[in-house]
Amino acid sequence: MKPFLPSPTTLLLCGLISIVTLRSDNMRAAQAPVVRTLAAPPVARPNAQGVANAAGTPRPRPAWTDGTAAPPTATTSWSQTDPFAPVYIVTSRDTYQGIRGLARDAVGRRDSTGMPLVISEIRADSLGEIGRHVHVNERRCGGFFAFPNRAQAEAFLHADRSRQAMTKSLLASYTLDNQATVDRWLPQVEERRIYDTINYLSSYRNRYYASSFGKTSAEWIRTHWQSLAAGRSYVTTELFTACTNCSTQPSVILTIQGWDLPNEVVVLGAHLDSINANNRNDLNQLAPGADDDASGIATLTETLRIALSEGWRPRRTVKFMGYAAEEVGLRGSNAIAQSFRSSGVNVVAVLQVDMTNYKSGAVPDMKLIADYSNADLKNFFVTLFDTYLAPRGLTRGSVACGYACSDHASWTNAGYPAAMMFEAGGPNGSFPYIHTTSDTLATMGESAQNSVKFAQFALAYLGETAKTAPVRFTGGPAPVFREGG
Ligand SMILES: [Zn+2]
Repeated sequence: MKPFLPSPTTLLLCGLISIVTLRSDNMRAAQAPVVRTLAAPPVARPNAQGVANAAGTPRPRPAWTDGTAAPPTATTSWSQTDPFAPVYIVTSRDTYQGIRGLARDAVGRRDSTGMPLVISEIRADSLGEIGRHVHVNERRCGGFFAFPNRAQAEAFLHADRSRQAMTKSLLASYTLDNQATVDRWLPQVEERRIYDTINYLSSYRNRYYASSFGKTSAEWIRTHWQSLAAGRSYVTTELFTACTNCSTQPSVILTIQGWDLPNEVVVLGAHLDSINANNRNDLNQLAPGADDDASGIATLTETLRIALSEGWRPRRTVKFMGYAAEEVGLRGSNAIAQSFRSSGVNVVAVLQVDMTNYKSGAVPDMKLIADYSNADLKNFFVTLFDTYLAPRGLTRGSVACGYACSDHASWTNAGYPAAMMFEAGGPNGSFPYIHTTSDTLATMGESAQNSVKFAQFALAYLGETAKTAPVRFTGGPAPVFREGG
């Protein structure tokens, strides 16, 4: 068959047709609502030990039964913020050098540790870009505090207590004497449950602080955490909305009232928002944030489930927190820490988990953040790790993370003892897909195995800081008094 040699006009015609079709595809894609079907939320089911899966394959989803509110299926979100609104940020001087093209009216300041800082003004729609600059050029997340006006930024630095928080020791000594509880908890951590929570949260189009998804996903966390409390009278949850620049996204706080040291508060926190660095304030941006930081919320959720499942009652009061608007300047955690400071709440220890599920190559299993943290608490974290995780063959490292790198910095600034355990990352240290559409379980081998270690660390921290009251919740009104915890 003689080959078909098209004439120049035919060629031209074909070319035109393909351009027309291509363009209409794009237009169609642009117009068509991106339907992201949310995975079914994790269910509060009885222990199902050892549900393994072939590594890397997405898993079948359990039907939901825990009455958690149905997730939104809307694809468009309503606008809450003016992209041109001024935002006042506090950064390190080094970070400022990198972002000065986006900022104006900069003034030099120092915090109580003597760290050279800058207060400058940016536009709201360049927040993503600031985040991307910090990530790409400084290989870390966060990097700034944000305020709605300059006076608040100045007042924040004026009241800074970081130096005090980093050096003082609150509890006479963090003790290690609750193995009975912790050793019972550690084997109960289930990778599948952590996977389910990450999968569910990362199936929201985004959890951006100003989008409706950012609000509804936070409300889902609150309802889900409350469902794990299963009617225990001494467990309450709230949406913290007293943050003036968190738009419509609340922070979530679950409180387990302490038995005999109720005025000493132990905090475990992670941030519940997500961001795509290319977003320019697009409320419909695609920002799954599976590792950053759905993995942290999932780690705390599994810690909470295990601690509450057997009616454990702490001696000290415990607060689990999901912070709003971390990606746009640590706004939620800063608002909470400042309000605790001004109402004189006695926080004795804060654990931050931000990104727990990525490990690639020959790197330690987790890293202690070395800076902007309390010295005593860091030493205690090392002791906890060496006592409870090292015997399981796990290894630890440490890394400096810089100014305002995650929510623990809000507590440090407010004068409270805080520290953070960070994921292993890759050979060059950080998670390559942070703040992108590829921050998904697929890029983490469709597994939450790395976060299992962090849930075990969080359980060790919880047991050894909050301790165990000599009572246990057995349902019904009055707890039964039982000797020896
Ligand atoms: Zn993060």
